[in-house]
Amino acid sequence: MTTTTTQQFDFFIEGRMGPALSGKYFDAVNPSNGEVFARIADADTIDVQIAVSAARLGFDHGRWPQMSIAQRGEFLLKIAALIRENAKELADLECASCGKTIKHTTFIDVPTAADTFEYFGKLSGNLINETMKHSAPVLSIIEREAVGVVVTIIPWNYPLIMTAWKLAPALLAGNCVVLKPSPSACASVMLLAKLASQVGLPKGVLNIIASSRPQAGAELVGSPEVDMVSFSGSTKTGEAVMALASKGVKKLTLELGGKSPNIVFADCDMEAALGGALSAIFMNQGQMCTAGSRLLVEDKIYQEFVEKLVAHTKNLKIGPADNFETEFGPLVSVGHRDAVLKFIEKGKQEGAKLVCGGRIPGRELSPGEEEDSPLHKGAYLEPTIFINVRNSMSIAQEEIFGPVLCVIPFTSVNEAVHIANDTKYGLAAMVWSQDLEKANKVARRLRCGTVWINTYGVFLNEIPFGGYKQSGFGRELGLAGLLEYTQLKHIATDTTPGGRSLVTSWF
Ligand code: NAD
Repeated sequence: MTTTTTQQFDFFIEGRMGPALSGKYFDAVNPSNGEVFARIADADTIDVQIAVSAARLGFDHGRWPQMSIAQRGEFLLKIAALIRENAKELADLECASCGKTIKHTTFIDVPTAADTFEYFGKLSGNLINETMKHSAPVLSIIEREAVGVVVTIIPWNYPLIMTAWKLAPALLAGNCVVLKPSPSACASVMLLAKLASQVGLPKGVLNIIASSRPQAGAELVGSPEVDMVSFSGSTKTGEAVMALASKGVKKLTLELGGKSPNIVFADCDMEAALGGALSAIFMNQGQMCTAGSRLLVEDKIYQEFVEKLVAHTKNLKIGPADNFETEFGPLVSVGHRDAVLKFIEKGKQEGAKLVCGGRIPGRELSPGEEEDSPLHKGAYLEPTIFINVRNSMSIAQEEIFGPVLCVIPFTSVNEAVHIANDTKYGLAAMVWSQDLEKANKVARRLRCGTVWINTYGVFLNEIPFGGYKQSGFGRELGLAGLLEYTQLKHIATDTTPGGRSLVTSWF
């Protein structure tokens, strides 16, 4: 069951848990029932400054950057262990925060977050230090070092996993970090902050704050005490972050939005492709950066595929996220649900044909009638499918970030590739075909950071993930993800025989 009592969550700043200086809290609302289930400490500008200064002091004067990778990894392993010990409470909070089904938070979000801390915690050795041999009488050592103070900002759709993806590599590399989750869904992250406060990290190494104020993120990015920003969120906010980070020339990684094509060829395994298409758009109610929101189906199987897909979709069990039977929960908030409904109206106006969903589920209310259905109290929306979509329509071009699928037919490989690439985004793509040679050729022509062939949503701690084009730059996870949080240093020592340095003979 979702947590019903109102819990209170504080910040983790300067090595301890505490409230905002103002003593203010903001409400966390459960989108399954519209009820307030938690109160979160609310950072003002001064709290933001204290968090950043704590990280600055921790980096400039603390022992964290000088510790070995193995020593820092021990702390990550302790965090992972605490996540596993508190798995149920974290899964309940994640479910109550963002409306993600309890099945999802229990079996995916919480264990994945622990796995990521463990993966990075167990990486040992140096961060690729090299001694280079070259013709000059100079010994070159190339080392990777931490960047310094890193601000990490995450969205609301995968709070725990995004937290792990950013904190584990940033800390392992020796940085001191400030993390800010989204105010729309952050209770689980604030519990994680409390757990992290128990592992004995040196003061200032990790700081986690939340704020109801939209400016809080900008204040973090703009702080002159910050060296690097690692941002995940929408492309629109990413542009603002990039502009702000240019002041002070901060290092930046951006993991942004997507409009991923899911290409289904006639020679696919149809049951597998149907399952993949459903997962790609309706898992987490379509609120995934890698959502397969454009379904491209070869004309030979178009009709059959769409009929089967609609039938499956109509059978999805919609309900409160805290029920293990629920397959499709609410969206993150009523405000976001209403924004998605506007896209659905736009799709109809643009001439796309609505063949499934598109409405708030539950019985229709008469004017003035009281809302009594549990589904009316939450942020629910039926899973929605449009056919007869042209790729130029705004529902096919803009990231809706909800359960709205645009189905587009194609007749040839070239046409499929052209439609797939005809977007400003480049995060992920799926290809379904039993001809693996063809599928691989197509994968290489797609302009995006990840292509899944005959599968969907394979994320591995060892494998880097990130975008092309306006889906951002930089990578999360894997060695590439870890190295984002480092910078290269060259230490050159003159080794001229006899000790007479090269430069002494110039003037
Ligand atoms: P958002 O861009 O509205 O907010 C993301 C975060 O940025 C939040 O913590 C928010 O408080 C903060 N923020 C807002 N304005 C800011 C500013 N001016 N400066 C700094 N920070 C600011 O995104 P969202 O609605 O929370 O999340 C959905 C978006 O995230 C979608 O576009 C989705 O595709 C994207 N996303 C991308 C990835 C990825 O890895 N590529 C992963 C998850 C989500």
